[in-house]
Amino acid sequence: MKIYKKELIYNVPAHRGLVKITDHVREALKESEIKEGLALVNTMSITASVFINDNEQGLHHDWEKWLEKLAPEFPKEQYEHNIKENNAHSHLKRAIMGRECVCAITDGKLDFGGFEDIFYYELDGQRDKKVLVKIIGE
Ligand code: ZN
Repeated sequence: MKIYKKELIYNVPAHRGLVKITDHVREALKESEIKEGLALVNTMSITASVFINDNEQGLHHDWEKWLEKLAPEFPKEQYEHNIKENNAHSHLKRAIMGRECVCAITDGKLDFGGFEDIFYYELDGQRDKKVLVKIIGE
């Protein structure tokens, strides 16, 4: 069994933002030379998310609106966490969007449905954050 690990760094210039990272994961898969197995992709920050969904602009705006309803950024004083920090809403949004995705690898490719892409969702940006790609298989 082969094991391959790669760390990707993202620095989103805004407080929040979506980055399509499918090609970065495909690049890691190519480097791994693994043909059959699993790829784990997880953020290493508690205020960012990795998830799989459609790459559609309208949908990206809908994520923002939906998350803002569930865990509004303002007023900041509504959260106990913001007594010492100001990113309580980022922690809550991350809990909703999830930490990682797992992708099947078949014949050296990400074994995806037709419209699936992998996204990094920055929820408290303007600094470097790591995403771990771990691939195991043959
Ligand atoms: Zn915090």
